[in-house]
Amino acid sequence: MSLKSYIFPEVCSLCKENKSFDESYICKSCLNELERTPENSCQLCSSPIDTFLKLCHQCIENPRPWQKGKAPLLLKGQSREIIHKFKYNSQIILSRYLVQAMVEKIHQTTIRELSCVTPVPMHWFKKMKRGFNQAELLAEGISKALDKPHLPLLKRKMQKSVQALKSRSQRKENISHIFEINEKQKVPEGTILLVDDVLTTGATLTACSKVLLENGAREIYVLTAARG
Ligand SMILES: [Zn+2]
Ligand SMILES: [Zn+2]
Repeated sequence: MSLKSYIFPEVCSLCKENKSFDESYICKSCLNELERTPENSCQLCSSPIDTFLKLCHQCIENPRPWQKGKAPLLLKGQSREIIHKFKYNSQIILSRYLVQAMVEKIHQTTIRELSCVTPVPMHWFKKMKRGFNQAELLAEGISKALDKPHLPLLKRKMQKSVQALKSRSQRKENISHIFEINEKQKVPEGTILLVDDVLTTGATLTACSKVLLENGAREIYVLTAARG
């Protein structure tokens, strides 16, 4: 394979078969199979809702510290596949489609003027092992598309234990104090777009939002590629 075809794939980057695709490097038939968040979805977490309320039960019971939470995809079927390949198989080319879909979601949402875009940080060791932080990659693309600065405002404190081994409540408890402000950065006073790949329980995004709000941010919008 030539270097050019490695950087600019000749087949759809999802099915690896179709040779016709758009600028996101995904073919029409794959695009059609992606599970998208419906129009009627929760304002804070993008969960599908079927009531006249603008919020889902989860967000009513556990208020979120952010103003709006948007995600173009649902973590199901082909959408799960695209996230998985991007995140765990290092198929970085897929970030092109994800960024495009996330930016489109922002354009459809009424929001205040953003002062910056910031990613959920990854532990340095994990980043070293994976070679990239998926949230950072998405945030960089979004920052370019929206023409807003990309500022790494947050960092992780030392990881005390392996998160995956803990129960859900322990994990939530543990995650609430693992982030801090990156001392090399100053938090802008305005509205911050906080970016991650997936919103599942929202514990990580809650912890990050709180740190940003405690350090001078006025409000937070959350943008993820998918809702888990
Ligand atoms: Zn395809
Ligand atoms: Zn919700």
